[in-house]
Amino acid sequence: MRYKVAILGATGMVGQKFIQLLDNHPWFDVSAVIASERRVGKVYGEEVDWIVSRDVPKSVRDLEMLPMDPKKVDADIVFSALPSDVAREVEAKFAAEGFVVASNASAFRMEPDVPLVIPEVNPDHLGLIEVQKRNRGWDGFIVTNPNCTTIVLVITLKPLMELGLKEVNVATMQALSGAGYPGVPSLAITDNILPFIKGEEDKVESEPLKLLGRFEGSEIRFASLRVSASCHRVPVIDGHTEAVFARFDRDVSVDDVIEAFKSLKPIEGLPTSPEEVIVVREEPDRPQPRLDRDAGNGMSVVVGRVRKDGENGVKYIAMGHNTVRGAAGASILNAELMAKEKLI
Ligand code: NAP
Repeated sequence: MRYKVAILGATGMVGQKFIQLLDNHPWFDVSAVIASERRVGKVYGEEVDWIVSRDVPKSVRDLEMLPMDPKKVDADIVFSALPSDVAREVEAKFAAEGFVVASNASAFRMEPDVPLVIPEVNPDHLGLIEVQKRNRGWDGFIVTNPNCTTIVLVITLKPLMELGLKEVNVATMQALSGAGYPGVPSLAITDNILPFIKGEEDKVESEPLKLLGRFEGSEIRFASLRVSASCHRVPVIDGHTEAVFARFDRDVSVDDVIEAFKSLKPIEGLPTSPEEVIVVREEPDRPQPRLDRDAGNGMSVVVGRVRKDGENGVKYIAMGHNTVRGAAGASILNAELMAKEKLI
């Protein structure tokens, strides 16, 4: 079965990544591209400021850009790469009209009846779809993926939960593409680090508790875990790096932690799944964004420098591609999981 997919925010940083990753996708065909009002009626290939590698794929180059009106869109799935304030109204409108919305925006992530999902971490949270449809009376529904920093972190925390994880401190070094396009002015970031990303720390501290929580039939019971984050923008194009300090309720060894990382398995049969969800590097100077962000076609999280941090503590570096695993690839993987589970 093939599915028609539309992209909201198709001209932005994440929207372009969707277009790139969906080129020749075995299940999904891009049928509609949508951005802000000023683009309506224009041709995608002429209109977009294309900034990702390779050319605009032939299959979308000549598509006429549509308005944000569900009645004008022919698609089974709508991928959303809209700014959050716009997403709140538009995604609800599409879901009400019967579309399956897979969203990158933060607007609905923490709503109690909206699944916030990473397939390898909490696929059972898709059970909230029925609750959402019942609560809201929508024919369609919204499923979200986490913030780009959260997803890299939580993929590494999931296998540590069984070792008695209690507390996490994380300092991030986040890429420029995470700020969208045109994003951060070059004169602000060249030869510099910006020690503040608006709203980011709140998301990194709250989203993991939902993702690592338990689905209890009609709601998520949040994980009892304390996460504290300090987020920083650095002059790297793609790839968020995170220094993670994890504390447990018992003593754990470096070997226990490495074994746990390696035990997190991909979901079989999803075209965008990487072979290894977490790649563990042994070298003392890895991961590095430039060398490691394309691991697993950008869908693996790369971990290194796993070492003891006092009693009951371990520290390590995690790195992941923020616009692939952290954004477009995450939504596509969620949609593949929903297709596999016959939810679409
Ligand atoms: P971006 O580069 O600024 O792109 C925003 C897109 O939304 C563009 O297509 C833009 O269209 C469209 N848009 C803006 N205002 C609009 C309006 N009023 N009505 C309709 N369309 C409008 O942003 P981005 O980095 O791709 O991020 C998109 C979303 O993904 C955000 O919610 C962001 O938080 C989230 N996200 C981003 C990343 C990342 O690594 N970048 C990671 C995870 C999640 P025009 O070109 O026509 O203005």
